[in-house]
Amino acid sequence: MLDFSSLLLAAALSGTCLALTMFAIWFTAPRAGFVLTVASGILVLVAHVILFWRYTRDPDPLLCQIALALLSLGFLILCLSAMQYLGVSDYRRAVVPTFAAMAVCAALTFLGLDGVGFIVTYAVVTVLLSTIGAMFWINGSHDRRILLVVSFLSGSCAVSFALCGVVLMAKGQWTLGAAPDNWAERLNSVVSVACMTGLGALTLSLHHLQAQIELKAETMTDPLTGLMNRRGLTSLYGERTFGPFMAIVMFDLDHFKRTNDIYGHPVGDQVLCRFAAVIRKYARTGVDAFRLGGEEFAIVMSRMTEERAHDLASKVGVAFGTEIVATPLGPLRSTVSGGIGVGGTDGSTLDEVLAEADAALYAAKRAGRNRVISRTRIGKAEPDRPALRSA
Ligand code: GH3
Ligand code: MG
Ligand code: MG
Repeated sequence: MLDFSSLLLAAALSGTCLALTMFAIWFTAPRAGFVLTVASGILVLVAHVILFWRYTRDPDPLLCQIALALLSLGFLILCLSAMQYLGVSDYRRAVVPTFAAMAVCAALTFLGLDGVGFIVTYAVVTVLLSTIGAMFWINGSHDRRILLVVSFLSGSCAVSFALCGVVLMAKGQWTLGAAPDNWAERLNSVVSVACMTGLGALTLSLHHLQAQIELKAETMTDPLTGLMNRRGLTSLYGERTFGPFMAIVMFDLDHFKRTNDIYGHPVGDQVLCRFAAVIRKYARTGVDAFRLGGEEFAIVMSRMTEERAHDLASKVGVAFGTEIVATPLGPLRSTVSGGIGVGGTDGSTLDEVLAEADAALYAAKRAGRNRVISRTRIGKAEPDRPALRSA
């Protein structure tokens, strides 16, 4: 059976290797900042383990204070890395209480109550690890199985630290004068090595998953306007059934080729961005905006009657008509035409509603542009309504 020193040295060695691997991974993918944070946290924990090991041989109070501070600091950094990964930005909620507890711990140890200092530190680590597990469980948008493993590993590690504190309390060891050495401490070093190695390996697979998610988001985003592209539309709505309260408006800028020919492509791009900004203003829960390609855009509306969809589309058209792009040839105003398709009572596919919207858009163009036409109005007296004036 390994003795306590060997367990500590094994923990330091495995932690160092893990941190080095992570530094190497971060070096090749610097955007994954949380990998660097995890690696830094692990290195701080390695420093703690080495000092703690020294403390088991040379029980100097200052060594004890530094080792305990490093233990809290290491797990605080790991907690911050989890927040960084999950996009929980209120770091102060973790930093302030941890530093406060570290100060209390230092004061207690200074006063000779090093046993209480250990108990406080174990409590801090237990809370930080439980927070990591809970944050992943609540905020993680991954496969539940990965979240379950992360939560289980942090939870097990938290329990092993809590046990160390409980044993010290049960024995009433408020003053130690040396490193605590009991069954809970040994169990804790074994569990910590296993859990930290597991969490380290999971960090790498989380990094891999994040890269995949970012790549997927990139392929679904139009680089010029930042709106979702046609692939994004298919991915979000391709499998959906469109009922009568779901509508798609297809927009097509009017005479855009002329805009390019007269004012140049860069000005054309500005006009596209301006229109994207206008429809983005109307995007909210239940209203998603897309650039389908070229100068064609779409908004998909859920829980919306055809009337209200028409109103919203007309507002977009009016708002865009008031936009002025400054060009070397003078101010430029543009207009847009829109066609609305609505899901059928028996349910329609995305392609069916898009085809309807496209037909309505074609009708809007033929009716003189700068207007919105609903599928039900096609073929009726035109213009659909004098909502928008020609620029
Ligand atoms: P209509 O009113 O009938 O829609 O006429 P239009 O000129 O807008 O339509 P057309 O389809 O003839 O022209 C679309 C133009 O959009 C042609 C193409 O050069 C331009 N275009 C497509 N993508 C981009 C882009 O990313 N940037 C710029 N500046 N122009 C683009
Ligand atoms: Mg077009
Ligand atoms: Mg056009």
